[in-house]
Formats: sequence, structure tokens, C-alpha cells
Amino acid sequence: MTENHDLWQGLDNAVISCRKCPRLVAWREEVAQVKRRAYLEWDYWGKPVPGFGDREARVLVVGLAPGAHGSNRTGRMFTGDSSGDFLYPALFNAGFANQPQAVDREDGLQLAEMFISAVCRCAPPGNKPKADEISNCLPYLESEIDLLSRLKVIVVLGRIAFDQTLRVFRQRTGEKLRFDFKHLAVHRLGENLPWLIASYHPSRQNTQTGRLTEVMFAEMWDTVNALLDG
Ligand code: SF4
Repeated sequence: MTENHDLWQGLDNAVISCRKCPRLVAWREEVAQVKRRAYLEWDYWGKPVPGFGDREARVLVVGLAPGAHGSNRTGRMFTGDSSGDFLYPALFNAGFANQPQAVDREDGLQLAEMFISAVCRCAPPGNKPKADEISNCLPYLESEIDLLSRLKVIVVLGRIAFDQTLRVFRQRTGEKLRFDFKHLAVHRLGENLPWLIASYHPSRQNTQTGRLTEVMFAEMWDTVNALLDG
């Protein structure tokens, strides 16, 4: 238990102090200094954002990257932006979160059976990390997958998370693992490996256009719970 705790702590420290991508380091720090008018009183996090949640989780959620004024401000995954405002109420309704609100790191939010991470830990300009930045960052996700020893389901939010998670498991298994990205599609990554479920990302662009509705999202979490029960 202590050894595991130390491994998690070491990983979180490595993430938070990482400066491997010069473009993203400059951007996250500039955003944290300039700020958005609505958040001028905030002391922005301005660093890479570590994974968040239950370290004994059976479900891993993989997002894209921190939002400039969301996680890059609050320091916690999906906290303080419109994606989180859509995600956490759904997780609360599905029984994975103890509350629907995610405001800051001291808001009391706890996850059960779920760990939330991303393929890129620094806020990228335009929400678009470059390929080499994703490659730099992916080992952190791989380490989390290794530490989540009870993992049974991986939920990928959006195509980039889908592609990169498949990349990780292609390297691990040596299998081709060529699947199409489709909302609610469930894939088996291999014998004794987790299920993979694809979802549209709960970005404002998707939720405000109706590409991803609350009903569609709830259905996806129902599927996750069914896999855990199965
Ligand atoms: S994106 Fe990842 S690898 Fe690049 S600086 Fe941030 S934490 Fe480090």
C-alpha cells in the first residue's frame, strides 16, 4: 500500500514539474499570468494537471487536455469549465461522483471506482496539442494504466483520446486493434485487458450543437456500469 502510494506520488510529482514541451510550457504559464477577466482574482494553477480520482478504480476516463481557463486554472481534471459542468453531473447520476459540482480542488468532490486522466497534461493553444507533445506526454497515461491494477473499463472522450489509447494498447499487445471511432461503441482490447468505450468529448462545441446530449451521455455511463456488473 505504502509502495503504491509512493509510486502514485512520484508520478504526480513528475507530471506537475514536467517541462518537456516548450510551446505548452510557455502557453500554460502565459494564460496563468494574463488570465480571463472573469477569473482575475484566481491564482491560476498554470502547471501540468495530474490524474484525479480513485486509485483503486475499475474505470479510467481519458480526455484530451486541460482547458486554458478550466483545469489550467483549477489544477484538477475537468474542473471549472463547461466540459466539467457536463461531465460531473453525469458521473454523479451514474454513481461515480459524490456531487455534481466541480469548482476547485477544495470543493469536496470525490470519485468512486473512477480515475480521470488525459493524453496531454498541459493546456494547448486552441485545444490542439501537436503530435510530438502528445508523444511526450503519453508515458504518464501509461504509468497510470500500470498503477490502476483493477482496471476493467476505459472510457475515451473524443477521437484523439481514442486513437492514443489504442496506440498504447497496440504497443502493449502487438495486435493491430483497428477500430472505428463511434459514440457508444464497445471494444475488447484483448484477453484479460479492459473494455474500451468511445464517447464524443463533452466539449461545449459537442454539447451545444446536440452532437452529444445528456441522454446519450447517460446511456454511455449505464453501459459502463453494466460492464462493471457483468
Ligand atoms: S504536455 Fe505533458 S510532456 Fe508536455 S510539458 Fe506538459 S506534462 Fe510535460
